[in-house]
Amino acid sequence: RAKKNAAQKICFYDEAMDEAVRTRTALMAELQAALEKGLFELHYQVQTSVLTGEITGYEALLRWRHPERGVILPSEFIPLAEESGFIGRLGEWVLRTACKEATTWKPPYKVSVNLSPVQFAYPNLSGLIADVLRETGLDPARLELELTESTIITDKARALAIVHQIKALGVTIALDDFGTGYSSLDTLRSFPFDRIKLDRSFMQDFESSPRVKAIVRAVLALGKSLDIPILAEGIETPGQLLLLGEEGCDHAQGFFLGRPATVRDIVDSGQIARAASFGHSAREDRAL
Ligand code: C2E
Ligand code: MG
Ligand code: MG
Ligand code: MG
Repeated sequence: RAKKNAAQKICFYDEAMDEAVRTRTALMAELQAALEKGLFELHYQVQTSVLTGEITGYEALLRWRHPERGVILPSEFIPLAEESGFIGRLGEWVLRTACKEATTWKPPYKVSVNLSPVQFAYPNLSGLIADVLRETGLDPARLELELTESTIITDKARALAIVHQIKALGVTIALDDFGTGYSSLDTLRSFPFDRIKLDRSFMQDFESSPRVKAIVRAVLALGKSLDIPILAEGIETPGQLLLLGEEGCDHAQGFFLGRPATVRDIVDSGQIARAASFGHSAREDRAL
């Protein structure tokens, strides 16, 4: 039996696979080194009220500033980080950095942080969140954690227990990318989400397709009757924003409202000021 397994292993092993494994191992080593060298950074994308246009918060989006390849987007490295378990350390860095940075913002907007399904599988996620809040001093009410349905489907009872522990800290929970993947009404029935983020794919034909418009309208109605605010993702045109306003959508996020940017760029644009404790003079803070 052992012999047979060994033989099978040999047959499946070939040079192409060896190459793929080596590439993955190299990329993994690069990811680890990047974290140690401080090459990860967070960009923030503004979220606004559709009705008033006021800023309500910022979503933290992870970027890898690679010395040769430039800025690398999460889709290129999050999957490997998840498979290898590295997302644990990386996710902790994201959480701590976002909370720390947000404490310096004036006005004190909310900050949204994405959680990987893999982070949910680790023990004591709520303990880590509590520690980070204590260390950084961020008001828990200013932290929103974004989950996707893929986080929930693996072990629903466990996910629900963790969500309750997180909410007990005073942190709010959003359902990200709603309408894609596993979307089921059961998720909405059982989980106490504070906000639903409608996936950006719905904005693509929102204006031109009566079908898409009907679906968006139904999601907005569902939000109203459940008393859960809806944020529409991926707003790229003024027309989309106008129509969302007519349909009674609560919040919006997208390139039309603001691209993800560094805190420095956001401060320079005048959207936020930084508290004096962050090394800026009080005079500067008053000016902004
Ligand atoms: P997401 O959480 O749904 O984030 C929104 C994504 O849509 C971002 O891509 C953002 O740049 C993009 N986006 C925003 N507005 C528009 C728009 O108007 N048009 C278009 N075409 N795109 C828009 P990004 O930064 O590449 O992130 C992709 C995904 O990677 C995120 O989707 C999230 O699932 C994941 N991610 C990002 N940062 C983190 C992180 O710190 N931890 C984890 N676990 N996942 C992260
Ligand atoms: Mg998100
Ligand atoms: Mg999303
Ligand atoms: Mg998305």
